[in-house]
Amino acid sequence: MAERKVCLVTGASSGIGLAAALELVRAGHIVYGAARRVERMDSLRAAGGHPIAMDVSRDADVERVVRTILDAQGRIDVLVNNAGVGLHGSIEDTPLDKARHLFEVNLFGLARLVQLVLPSMRTLGSGTIINVSSIGGEIALPLGAWYYASKHALEAFSDSLRQEVGRFGVRVVLIQPGIIKTEFEKGTAQELRDVSGHGAYAIMAEAMAKRADQAFSGESKASEPLVVAEAIREAIDSPSPKVRYVVGYLGKMLL
Ligand code: NDP
Repeated sequence: MAERKVCLVTGASSGIGLAAALELVRAGHIVYGAARRVERMDSLRAAGGHPIAMDVSRDADVERVVRTILDAQGRIDVLVNNAGVGLHGSIEDTPLDKARHLFEVNLFGLARLVQLVLPSMRTLGSGTIINVSSIGGEIALPLGAWYYASKHALEAFSDSLRQEVGRFGVRVVLIQPGIIKTEFEKGTAQELRDVSGHGAYAIMAEAMAKRADQAFSGESKASEPLVVAEAIREAIDSPSPKVRYVVGYLGKMLL
């Protein structure tokens, strides 16, 4: 077995984060899974992981979680920044306060966690930070500008961070999932119809919503969260992980 590491996985109450937390427990690591819906992490607790309540957009929560783990374990070897939200609709129709909240979760909360774990990783001279971006961190489609902008920002943030902290033995890895069957994809179609389905963007919104519905339907080739979880485990356990892992079905959404 690979060396036993202390891991913090955010967004561990569903989808990719829950699958990753369980996969890391199975691989023998000490795993803390953080999310707001702590009641959704019973399976993680049963498997031997440690669910912990955290809203990543609240500084006090983030500080408490890092302090709790450092007090209990003395170190955090791996930070998996997976918590994320989507936001769909035309730029014209999307309220800016929703866009600001998206950035608080997808970028600033993640950045605060990075700031808090780095001193301990630097002192140890090792650590792995895994940021779950998206294939949407490389390309952008209509009616999701704020989401794509947040993931593009995360890509640049991560590439810059890697160059800052590599000399301290800290590795920074980006995961770019394609279309994965989670609650995230389920919500996309409804949001497109709610936000832009009645105005000037209605035809485009309906077409995009149908594609999102298809991506989540039974016949779809969308990938299971486990394939992303396996890539995260590989990035942690490999002596020389890739800088970016593109994982899962890319599908017609991206054509
Ligand atoms: P889910 O909706 O299943 O999971 C999202 C997770 O993020 C939940 O555990 C949720 O927990 C957590 N989360 C959301 N807001 C907060 C918050 N304020 N504080 C703490 N945790 C929060 O979606 P996925 O598993 O699909 O998404 C995981 C990541 O994968 C995201 O970053 C997403 O952008 C990315 N991704 C997903 C793709 C897909 O097709 N599904 C494709 C590309 C990227 P809770 O609500 O309990 O707090």
